[in-house]
Amino acid sequence: MFKLETIISLAKRRGFVFQSSEIYGGINGCWDYGPLGCELLQNLKQAWWKAMTYRDDIEGIDASILMHPKVWEASGHLAAFSDPMIDNKTSKSRHRADNLIEDYIDKMRKKKKDDVAAQIQQKLDSVANNDDYFKIITEYGIPDPISGTTDWTEVRNFNLMFKTFIGPLDDAASTIYLRPESAQGIFVNFKNVMESSRQKVPFGIAQIGKAFRNEINTKNFLFRTREFEQMEMQYFIKPHTEKEWFEYWQEQRFNWYVEYGMKREKLRWHPHTKLAHYANFASDIEFEFPFGFGEIEGIHSRTDFDLTAHQGLSGKKLEYIDTVTKERFVPYVIETSGGVSRGVMAFLCNAYDEEDAVAEDGEKRVVLRFHPKLAPVQVAVFPLVNKDGMPEKAHALYKDLQRNFKTQYDVSGAIGRRYRRQDEIGTPYCITIDGDTLANNTITVRERDSMKQETISLDNAQSYIFNKFAE
Ligand code: ATP
Repeated sequence: MFKLETIISLAKRRGFVFQSSEIYGGINGCWDYGPLGCELLQNLKQAWWKAMTYRDDIEGIDASILMHPKVWEASGHLAAFSDPMIDNKTSKSRHRADNLIEDYIDKMRKKKKDDVAAQIQQKLDSVANNDDYFKIITEYGIPDPISGTTDWTEVRNFNLMFKTFIGPLDDAASTIYLRPESAQGIFVNFKNVMESSRQKVPFGIAQIGKAFRNEINTKNFLFRTREFEQMEMQYFIKPHTEKEWFEYWQEQRFNWYVEYGMKREKLRWHPHTKLAHYANFASDIEFEFPFGFGEIEGIHSRTDFDLTAHQGLSGKKLEYIDTVTKERFVPYVIETSGGVSRGVMAFLCNAYDEEDAVAEDGEKRVVLRFHPKLAPVQVAVFPLVNKDGMPEKAHALYKDLQRNFKTQYDVSGAIGRRYRRQDEIGTPYCITIDGDTLANNTITVRERDSMKQETISLDNAQSYIFNKFAE
């Protein structure tokens, strides 16, 4: 298994991801997507959007980030969207108590103290309040990773919502929040979407958008950031049919990751033992990152918690009336909630490969084995040499392909080098214009993973690549 640093360094060198505000020393928990990163990001979102909304029963929306403050009162975020926080008095460092304990469990496992790890895990699973976290930390003498000391403060709740002000006055009456999840934008639009699109239960609403959480600790690159994007879908169903829909969406979402190239053995389910205040069952899809398994998407059965809460506080009916049976009910909801940035990171880690056995130039090959539809650059065009009319032909083909595909043109260095550069960013197809092109109008297409080359007619280049990307 390669190290996370390898991915971070490749991501920076090749323009996938940069630290935000880097010239000022960076800002914790915020990252910027570079030229290749934003292509990957767009492709990932497009793949999700197609899977989720190019069907009869799901509509898309794009709600605003700033919402009426009552939304967060109804949803329970004002009262309960907090993490348990603990401070170390010596280093003054601040930690999420549950993560501190989890990291310690991992440490015990690495030291082959599996029995201690299991014991702590069991206690962690049955934590009921902040005191319970504190008891575990003191009972096992869990030290601060920075100072190594155990002089901890008590565990307190820390609300993760970012506050700001709406309008010119910065007083309490104008306090609003940056949304910590995109889901609430869907719930408050439930009636609007249902009526305008004439959908009937069961149906869903999907959205991709930014969310903000003032996380106590940010770490592991894109895994835990303070600004991130979510791809969420709320599926509105008849009460008490949640079990079958939960299973349906579990299968759909797991298969989506596999369809886009995630290695099955790097994915697993993590059913929740401790449920959020709104859920009656929940399970996460986890991916094996270089630092261990971590959640990339949660499937939650949210009952009628959100719609009922918004109905209560807004005074507006959020019911569904079945026109055939005349039944009237507040729908239950199955939610699929994935992180786009965590997805980008998971697909990057999943795609990364190093090959010792090499072909064209006898060097080690670093390759990102992205699914072709996710690859930031889809096709590259090279003239074999920068003379004899080859550059003109190659450039014309490049311009032609660029109308439909993200295409790169490269003339510099030996052909093997140019292949390496494209392998390292995951380009699935490279086309070379050579002497044969001039003599009999053929080109060579080289496929990234097999490194196999195929000779086709130059006239068929566009349709050949098109077919490779066809559904
Ligand atoms: P965690 O337990 O890791 O804090 P969560 O259970 O609070 O996550 P959800 O509220 O279910 O996460 O959010 C849905 C998805 O949003 C997660 O599966 C994850 O992919 C993404 N996500 C949540 N928090 C962050 C974050 N701080 N940075 C990046 N992505 C995040």
